[in-house]
Amino acid sequence: MHDLIIVGGGPAGTSAAVYAARKRLKTIFLTSEWGGQSAVSSEIQNWIGTPHIMGADLADNLKKHVEEYKGEFLEIVSPSEATQLKTFDDHVEVVTKKGAYSASAVIIATGANRRKLDVPGAAEFDQKGLTYCASCDGPLFAGQDVAVIGGGNAAFETALQLLAYCKSVTLLNRTENFRADEISIAAAKAHANMRIVLNAEPTEVVGGPSPGGFVSGIKYKDAKSGEETLLPVAGIFVEIGLLPSSTWLANVLELNAVGQIKVDPRTQRASHRRVWAAGDITDGIYHQNNIAAGDAVKALEDVYMFIRKNKSEA
Ligand SMILES: Cc1cc2nc3c(=O)[nH]c(=O)nc-3n(C[C@H](O)[C@H](O)[C@H](O)COP(=O)(O)OP(=O)(O)OC[C@H]3O[C@@H](n4cnc5c(N)ncnc54)[C@H](O)[C@@H]3O)c2cc1C
Repeated sequence: MHDLIIVGGGPAGTSAAVYAARKRLKTIFLTSEWGGQSAVSSEIQNWIGTPHIMGADLADNLKKHVEEYKGEFLEIVSPSEATQLKTFDDHVEVVTKKGAYSASAVIIATGANRRKLDVPGAAEFDQKGLTYCASCDGPLFAGQDVAVIGGGNAAFETALQLLAYCKSVTLLNRTENFRADEISIAAAKAHANMRIVLNAEPTEVVGGPSPGGFVSGIKYKDAKSGEETLLPVAGIFVEIGLLPSSTWLANVLELNAVGQIKVDPRTQRASHRRVWAAGDITDGIYHQNNIAAGDAVKALEDVYMFIRKNKSEA
């Protein structure tokens, strides 16, 4: 049986893997993909020690760093999707589509996914003008009018990417305040072709008749006056938050109301004594690459103490 299973190949899971291998814990590392959410980012400027890096390059570096330790102590199974966690008094088991793995402890670092826009037309026009990834689909809308839905860092980062080649970008924010950094807001506002609409609640995605039709606009309601407006756009980029990748953990661990794993922030330990969690999957208030990596190192240190104590008592 292994000492540890790590699930997730973003900044959290990869940090845990490097530390686990260096401490010579017998570890299995499972991930469906490498790099995590910011792998799609065109530029990351706050990965400490690296002033500028493309998301894809950061993902590649994380993968290379883990692979450097592949061997006697670290086994990598990728791509591999965990579908079930079983907890026992004396071990844990992670079930994947390819097989099941047992260990003394598990660190869960499965992060989060984009929240979907839930208004009429959103599902119908998904990938037909409505998209959740500016880096992937943005260039298709060069020279056109587009909308961005959201008011956090991801929404402003998306707007900034699109401003480089779209005719105009209109950001629709549901409230009067943004959750984004001041620096990103100021950078977007500085563009002549940027427009921001506050208190704008999307009500419908409109477009050509199905099948084969594409987005032609988005309707939104002013949250104060109730007045509805149709904004003609060719593309809609949705950045309205994240959903934790925890459906496979329901009924096994204590999750909060939005599905994040409840952890002790001093140790990252979850509700079962053999389970730890790190990064965006947890109920930590702040979620960033550096925080995910730090959480994971904290979790690993605690796992190490737990395993060492267990071995000395056996
Ligand atoms: C567009 C965008 C830009 C961002 N830019 C920045 C930035 O500039 N700076 C910054 O600090 N933060 C940024 N963030 C936030 C940052 O990406 C996250 O805080 C960080 O990725 C969280 O890391 P994580 O390892 O916890 O989870 P994730 O990055 O979500 O990684 C989860 C990993 O788990 C894997 N996985 C999921 N489910 C399973 C499963 N069932 N079985 C096996 N593997 C699974 C996934 O494939 C993935 O590898 C950005 C986020 C987005 C969306």
